[in-house]
Amino acid sequence: MSEIEKQLLPNLAEIWQKTLGWEPDELQQQQFQQLYEGILLGNRQLNLTRITAPKDFWEKHLWDSLVGIKYLDYLNCREKRETLRAIDIGTGAGFPGIPVAIAFPAWTVTLLDATRKKINFLQELVAAVGIENVKTITGRAEAIGREKLHRETYDLALLRAVGAVSVCAEYALPLIKIDGLAILYRGRWSEEDNLALESAASKLGGKIEFIEELKTPLTDSIRHCVYLRKLSRTPAQFPRAVGLPTRQPL
Ligand code: SAH
Repeated sequence: MSEIEKQLLPNLAEIWQKTLGWEPDELQQQQFQQLYEGILLGNRQLNLTRITAPKDFWEKHLWDSLVGIKYLDYLNCREKRETLRAIDIGTGAGFPGIPVAIAFPAWTVTLLDATRKKINFLQELVAAVGIENVKTITGRAEAIGREKLHRETYDLALLRAVGAVSVCAEYALPLIKIDGLAILYRGRWSEEDNLALESAASKLGGKIEFIEELKTPLTDSIRHCVYLRKLSRTPAQFPRAVGLPTRQPL
């Protein structure tokens, strides 16, 4: 038991700096470590993640979560940084939302997942780690995207490993404000993905603004970060009823 809790994350300040121009301060490093331990513990009850070795967790969960927001300055989001409202759709074990909340303590990050057990776990976890800028919602993106309280209220939507690209677009674009961004964290990227996303985004009031291809710093795995900009209001018929976006992708 205790040997699990004692697993230490590597401190890779140089790699953080070289790849993101940022590194965690002491408190943030401590919070990453507590997050890691909490997820290892939670993994005993819930199927949270198969990525559990310290270096893998660092690269595939922490680094990977933060690389997606590296381009925000370039994408003209700097002036908003202090007050950004972000939503992580299909957060699972809290990725990319929790590392983002730790790295940007002035943002408000909402974690959304359809599985109540996961959200209950995440609520306890963020309280235990002392992360105060996180909110949680149990629900389906299709339903939350129709609620007045949430529709077109976020600056940023983050989605990693949630589904096909057009499904992600239908979940994300209704939730973000005009001029807001949806960031899709993808592995490989194909011309097919590109066409499907372009077509879905145009129906939902958005367009692909920028796609960044990168490699993870420890194992050279391929990643693509896809930035969708919302240009106009999403038509009222979207998102469609629960389940339809995956059954009949746009
Ligand atoms: N983003 C995390 C987890 C990916 S697994 C990561 O990258 O590690 C996908 C998660 O999305 C699951 O936890 C599932 O419950 C959630 N999910 C799938 N469809 C959803 C929907 N329509 N609304 C809300 N959550 C959804």
